Amino acid sequence: MNIIKLISLLMTIPLVTGHFRYRKRDQHKWHQKFKFCNGKRQSPISLSSSKSIPVPLPALEMIGYRNYLQGRLHLKNNGHSVAMSLHDHASSQRLPYIFGATFPENEEYQVDHLHFHWGAKNSRGSEHMLNGVRYPMEMHIVHKNKAYSNLSDALNHEDGLVVLGIFFQLQEEDNQSLYPILNDLKKVQWLNKTTILGIPITLASLLPRNTDIFYVYKGSLTTPPCNEVVTWIIFPTPVPISFRQLNQFRFLHNEYKVLADNYRQLQDLGMRIVYVRRLDSIRNYNETICNVTNLNWFNNNKSCFP
Ligand SMILES: [Zn+2]
Repeated sequence: MNIIKLISLLMTIPLVTGHFRYRKRDQHKWHQKFKFCNGKRQSPISLSSSKSIPVPLPALEMIGYRNYLQGRLHLKNNGHSVAMSLHDHASSQRLPYIFGATFPENEEYQVDHLHFHWGAKNSRGSEHMLNGVRYPMEMHIVHKNKAYSNLSDALNHEDGLVVLGIFFQLQEEDNQSLYPILNDLKKVQWLNKTTILGIPITLASLLPRNTDIFYVYKGSLTTPPCNEVVTWIIFPTPVPISFRQLNQFRFLHNEYKVLADNYRQLQDLGMRIVYVRRLDSIRNYNETICNVTNLNWFNNNKSCFP
């Protein structure tokens, strides 16, 4: 080994030690370096319509989701996913944000970035499961509480993040809304490659047709350091993607091999409660016992309903 090779090897070591892998035996060791990964409020989980509590929650209000995102949208292959970041977007004041649903009044969450989890085969890839189904891909739109100045600050607070989880379902035809991202995917085929999105995009174009119904629960980041600071909102209606389009994600690589199967094993629900927004639940709903704006997240008390 010559001196240049040795120096470049030494320079890569800090990157490798901060990294994590998705193989089952590696996931079981995440907690050795990242203690939160062993917590009692971890994600993802298996969701089921029959075990969730229907509540007539306020709508999830999405502001700026229909605007074409102006300025530089960075697409990056970070070795465990491909992420489109908005946080260093030129006019950060105008970033899309959300409010409503189960969040306290005046609490707003601004988009930080979005990324994907997918499988090497069509029968797997999503992190959450819904009614026993594992979808081939799941997208996460990560939002940061506006009360905190940046993402790392938000990771220290229980109400730090809201992540929207969106499932993808295979169909024959392309989903044209994915073109802006897929068009630049080849440019980030290799680890740490970045590019600037060449085609304008709106966040609304990436959402399912129906966003009126959603599941909500308290969980964590699904990657190390696994901080338990996430309110998860999962839409049961999937977004379509063609076989050809999904295969484009499987051309991406990390430092070892093809980047795929980048999803975490299911975690125990434990004492947590999963709510589902259902407008038809108003009739049976006992408001004096179960207050929509002050839900009980951790105790299995189903007394909201007679
Ligand atoms: Zn994710």
